[in-house]
Amino acid sequence: MLDPLARRALQRLSAYVAGRNSPAARAAREGPPPVQLASNENPLGPSPLALEALARTAGEWGRYPDDHCSALRDALAAQLRVPFECVAVGAGSTALLKSLAEAYLDPQQTVVYPWPSFPLYPWIARLQEAQEVQVPLDPKGRHDLPQMAEGAAAARVVVVCNPNNPTGTYVSDAELRAFLDRLPGDVLVVLDEAYAEFARDAAADYPDGTRWVREGRRVAVLRSFSKAYGLAGLRVGYLVAPPEVVEAVARVQEPFHVSAPAQVAALAALQDRVHLARTLAVVAEGRRRLQALARRLSLRTYPSVANFVWLDVGRPAGEVGGELARRGVLVRPGPAGSTWLRVSVGTPEEVRRFEEALEEVLGGCGNGRGRRGHRRTS
Ligand SMILES: *Cc1c(COP(=O)(O)O)cnc(C)c1O
Repeated sequence: MLDPLARRALQRLSAYVAGRNSPAARAAREGPPPVQLASNENPLGPSPLALEALARTAGEWGRYPDDHCSALRDALAAQLRVPFECVAVGAGSTALLKSLAEAYLDPQQTVVYPWPSFPLYPWIARLQEAQEVQVPLDPKGRHDLPQMAEGAAAARVVVVCNPNNPTGTYVSDAELRAFLDRLPGDVLVVLDEAYAEFARDAAADYPDGTRWVREGRRVAVLRSFSKAYGLAGLRVGYLVAPPEVVEAVARVQEPFHVSAPAQVAALAALQDRVHLARTLAVVAEGRRRLQALARRLSLRTYPSVANFVWLDVGRPAGEVGGELARRGVLVRPGPAGSTWLRVSVGTPEEVRRFEEALEEVLGGCGNGRGRRGHRRTS
């Protein structure tokens, strides 16, 4: 029940429900620890260098953190070959997304975003009382860029989720450049690249959005330490954008918004090439196995370049998610009524647990989607 005195805008949104807080996930908590494939985290966990840095600096946590995140921004600027003034850090890239919305969207201004995509886009738009233009993905599960460009004619912000969560599909370098060329100059383009590290590894024509920042375009690139870098629990992400965009964000960020441990761990993780390479290898292999599973069970899917796969299980995904949870495997079902669910790529053992559970759930339900008796439809 919402307090009737709360802002009217709040009646149009509900609190975000994370994968691990779904009813199915709560039920699974009774048994042994479940396999966590619901939130696209790094299955190897944090970099050992990050853990060392945390242990080394724990004595300093009685002090406020560096409000400018100087060391981390310096390292990011050097690695990305952009000036320090082009980098902002936030408590997760979702915090930066919210800051961008607070800085750029007055009530009734328009934001364009793809759908289905990251549920935080509509949530933040509604919080700002913005007008939303939701552009459906095309039949291949990809951004419909011509439709988005049309919607952008009267928009203040356009969001490109690259690769897209939950489909795992991506917009190529040439496609994105052509799209940017079509947009009016007074639009802020937000490139959400939370999964950039995986996509770069998987597709040669996956664009590095920071290049357009170096070219001086009004583009804001969002990256995260929650996914490939394995620091989801610490809440840290970054933004690469023209200095005037970074200044706008700085004016809405609250003081000391990124904790000292988050800054220290992110700096160390950024330097740990070995852990990142290991992560990318585990994810590439696990993703291949999940795609092979989809072929074996004749489940529709899209070619993912991220650390998750979106599967059409041919039955209400909420139910299938519940049955998987009872078998100790947590995944992320699509919105109510959807037959699609998103599964994160885990360790080989976690992928095996998911394969077994899914084959059992789909094979045992007598709908012809199981291992036996189902013909390929595509
Ligand atoms: C996970 C995710 C994020 C970021 O998460 P943070 O933990 O807030 O950095 C951003 N965008 C998309 C599309 C994501 O899936």
